[in-house]
Amino acid sequence: MPIHFTDLDVLSQVDEGSSALIVPCAMCPAATLAVRENKPFLQLFRSLFKSPPLERYIAALRSQLADKGVRTQVFKSRLYHQWFLCMWTASRRKKLHQYAGRYDALVVLGCDSATETLREAAEGSNCKVIEGMKVSGIMNAQLTVRLPANVSFESCKIIPISGHTHEGGSMNH
Ligand code: SF4
Repeated sequence: MPIHFTDLDVLSQVDEGSSALIVPCAMCPAATLAVRENKPFLQLFRSLFKSPPLERYIAALRSQLADKGVRTQVFKSRLYHQWFLCMWTASRRKKLHQYAGRYDALVVLGCDSATETLREAAEGSNCKVIEGMKVSGIMNAQLTVRLPANVSFESCKIIPISGHTHEGGSMNH
């Protein structure tokens, strides 16, 4: 099952009037937010490619950053195999590298492996990599599909990761 997250304070890590590219992993963060909101992870009749709780979260984050004068864009793909930042293809990493130079910061919504993907992609640019979420455990849940085509996680428990000591934060590259 997916990794579960708590939020980190992105606003305090992004400079006023700067620019940021938000790079969400569309799997574990979307599952976390669906459980947090108690809403479907996917509503297939609405979209095969978007998880509404993650879309709302990103929209709210962009709005808060805009209030701070931060220009944002979102780096995402409709292709399922590009949803998982831990398994990005070489071409996807190369594309992010090209984009990284155009922004002051990359805001990663995902786990440490997702951050590592971005850290590598940002190498050679002055782009700061900012973690927007912190791992808090692994989800144990019942995957359910209900009419009219809602995919949800029910009866979710958060299982601690043995020996996990990561404290999150930001990195400069
Ligand atoms: S990058 Fe991390 S958050 Fe995203 S799918 Fe892989 S394990 Fe989950």
